[in-house]
Amino acid sequence: MIMYQLQGIAVTTGIAIGKAKLLKDRNVAVEEFEIDENQIEAELEFFKASISEVVNEIDQFIENFNLINEDKTIIETHKMILLDPDFVISVEKLVRNDKKNLEQAIYIHFMRAIDYFKNLDNQLYAERACDYEDVFHRLMLHLKKIDSNVVDEIEEGDIVVVSDLPPSLVSQIHKKGATGIVMSKGSKASHSIIIARALGLPIITGVKFQHIIHQGDVLIIDSKKGFVLVNPVDHLFQEFIDLQKKIKREISDLIDYIELIPTSANSEEFKILSNIDLPIEVEHLLEVNSDGIGLFRTESFYNDRKNLPTEDEQYATYKSIAQKLGDRPLVIRTTDIGGDKVASWYTLEKESNPNLGCRGIRFSLKYKSIFKVQLRAILEASNFGNISIMFPMISTFEEFVEAKAVLDECKEELHRARVPFAENIPVGTMIETPSAAICADGLARVCDFFSIGTNDLLQYTVAVDRGNENIASYYNHYNPAFLTLILKTIQSAHKHKKPVAICGEMAADTQFTAFLLNAGIKELSVGVDHTLKLKKFIRSVDSKKGVPFVEKLYDCLTTSDAKNFIDRINEICVDKGYMC
Ligand code: PEP
Ligand code: MG
Repeated sequence: MIMYQLQGIAVTTGIAIGKAKLLKDRNVAVEEFEIDENQIEAELEFFKASISEVVNEIDQFIENFNLINEDKTIIETHKMILLDPDFVISVEKLVRNDKKNLEQAIYIHFMRAIDYFKNLDNQLYAERACDYEDVFHRLMLHLKKIDSNVVDEIEEGDIVVVSDLPPSLVSQIHKKGATGIVMSKGSKASHSIIIARALGLPIITGVKFQHIIHQGDVLIIDSKKGFVLVNPVDHLFQEFIDLQKKIKREISDLIDYIELIPTSANSEEFKILSNIDLPIEVEHLLEVNSDGIGLFRTESFYNDRKNLPTEDEQYATYKSIAQKLGDRPLVIRTTDIGGDKVASWYTLEKESNPNLGCRGIRFSLKYKSIFKVQLRAILEASNFGNISIMFPMISTFEEFVEAKAVLDECKEELHRARVPFAENIPVGTMIETPSAAICADGLARVCDFFSIGTNDLLQYTVAVDRGNENIASYYNHYNPAFLTLILKTIQSAHKHKKPVAICGEMAADTQFTAFLLNAGIKELSVGVDHTLKLKKFIRSVDSKKGVPFVEKLYDCLTTSDAKNFIDRINEICVDKGYMC
């Protein structure tokens, strides 16, 4: 049998192994006809009763699945779509004035909304179109009293393969003992996927499985990487069985840490925040109970498109993320265009050495109108949550002062336009160039906070392109000059009583956790997947025992001296059972 690998979209995590069970499509044909005058009231009564029944169903879902956070919000959005007065008015009009039968009237209303959101060409609105599609299907199934006997065919251990699923079937599929789902439709935020996630069912969407997956084929889903293997060869099969066992062990081990506060062995509290590149990651960080967003890289707005992002588009995204986070902080880094993060529309200048070129804040100060659009969007969103602004690639004191002056201009413009915003929004800087680290004492006087970007700080300290594999051995986090800059930066921040966080990959490397905590770091911002592992590790670290030793770093001459120094701090501070 030939093995295939089909790529889809990763929407949950987990591995599922089982036999393919292809279900029939859920597409329902919409009946279209003209009704008589005397049918109008009956159609409308049926309409109202159906809405209230579906709303009840949704309420039951929320309760039964104990949905919280993002998932609950999305499902409540579905409820709002149904209860929207405009929906009722538009269907009533179509039935009463145009004599459309109910199914047709609902169809017309929903297709208008779906087309509208799809044409807005924006990820957030595309998800809103999916919400409308989901609600439409749910309502149509209800109107047509389509029952769900398709699930009768499912046997324990099956992986269900279907183009699309109503949410109500997902829980039934789970009850029948299916281990995973492969779908060709559905977004990360669609109702069915939320339920699958709540049930812990591995699921992949966007898989073009037609004519490739057949009834009874052996499937392996890797829902984190978003692919499905069809009839895998023996050694792969065994590899995934082992991987599945390993993941199950790791997850059940880490799940207990979700609700725990990140606390060290000596009971000091820390914060573990998240670095995100895409708005969609917010959902995941809420699931692991992250303390907020310590670094929102906003380059995704600018890259992979032909035009610039508008103020409204950015505002909508910042606002929505801030609202989802509630009181938790959201640190928005202004765009770090340049270097290796070059946008396709940015063809103004070709640089021979872009990493040392017009990157980050240099770009923003050069193209102030682009910068101001982003700053105004952040300010406008600042009333909806706990937002801070952070500038990337600051290398001089003057740059920070100039960037803040541009921010002040934006504040003035919003005042004049009577647009409210958080007047005292905190403004911080990345410390990711050696000159910023060396001048940290001065910067700390004018900044509200620091976040140390170790990825670039190392690259620029040792003059090694972080993406160049040929010289990767020079890109070594044990370099004593680099570690010295980190320690000096932390000390400067403390001197001026300014918070200092660490982002960049080093924050998630547990080899350095004891050093960082003992040096005085209170906040670590890491990729979402590292959150629980780090939280667990911190519980084994004493954050005070190493304090008298941290300045021994200044005696290190070589990389191996610094490695011995870090090992020594680990020996002193990390519970032996956890030694990394
Ligand atoms: C860093 O440089 O450490 C950092 C977090 O920024 P980026 O990786 O986006 O350059
Ligand atoms: Mg950086």
